[in-house]
Amino acid sequence: MKIIRDIAEMQAASRAARMGGLSIGFVPTMGALHEGHLSLARRARAQATLVVVSIFVNPLQFGPSEDFGRYPRTLESDCALLEAEGVEVVFAPSTEQMYPPDATTVVHVEGLSDRLDGRSRPGHFRGVSTVVAKLFHIVGPDCAVFGQKDAAQVAVLRRMVRDLNMPIELIVAPIARDPDGLALSSRNAYLSADERRQALVLHRALQRVEELAKSGELNSERLRSAALYVLADEPSAVLDYLEIVNPDTLLPVDSVARGALFAVAASFGPTRLIDNVLLPPR
Ligand code: AMP
Repeated sequence: MKIIRDIAEMQAASRAARMGGLSIGFVPTMGALHEGHLSLARRARAQATLVVVSIFVNPLQFGPSEDFGRYPRTLESDCALLEAEGVEVVFAPSTEQMYPPDATTVVHVEGLSDRLDGRSRPGHFRGVSTVVAKLFHIVGPDCAVFGQKDAAQVAVLRRMVRDLNMPIELIVAPIARDPDGLALSSRNAYLSADERRQALVLHRALQRVEELAKSGELNSERLRSAALYVLADEPSAVLDYLEIVNPDTLLPVDSVARGALFAVAASFGPTRLIDNVLLPPR
């Protein structure tokens, strides 16, 4: 497995791969890898002949009071996990190369970027779309795999790819969970044992909604109330949002009859977690 830190070297490696007839599958990450990330790499492998995983903690997507400084950085063990998966290239650029001090160009997906996480984390999706656009230009993949875990991010990036005519297939992989239901996240490492137990309420709330929708309850407000009722089991959870939206526009829907995204964000102690479920159309 090759570890590339230099942007020009990554571009040259991709060019050589394409000239050699390989197709490139790409998985952008911020490292501190877990089974969720690895499932994305496997998905890329199923579709492409060369898999590139980037590891870059992107300062542009963190707010001033967020956890950029203390975000877990575990490059060595990340590389060992990726090597075991048969990943061919890890791209781990420096912040200085990615963002020269006089860089002023950003990619901003208007509207979508202000919804769900974008509302509570102003500038977050602008940082995400900018870095992913840059990584796409550097890696030049045929396909890129993202997790359903970050459902709003998927909507923002789909729109970016479409609006800017990027010749890249976006693939969305399902949410990987611990056996007790907690969605895997690099930020789970911040949770105390108590907070981790409390955080299971997110999955319980989503399960309840899924169950009700399956049994025929299609009214968003009633589904939302049922989820709030479950969340009230854990008074220590500080709710950020609990929304039933169209998965493409991220705008609220009154009924889930045509399918919907049920998304939740809440903090447990200082740690903000997100989770969601896609309700199938009926
Ligand atoms: P991150 O390193 O948190 O920026 O995540 C990198 C990619 O992994 C994103 O596309 C995430 O949606 C995806 N991801 C993170 N957690 C999970 C999970 N539990 N299941 C599936 N994909 C995930």
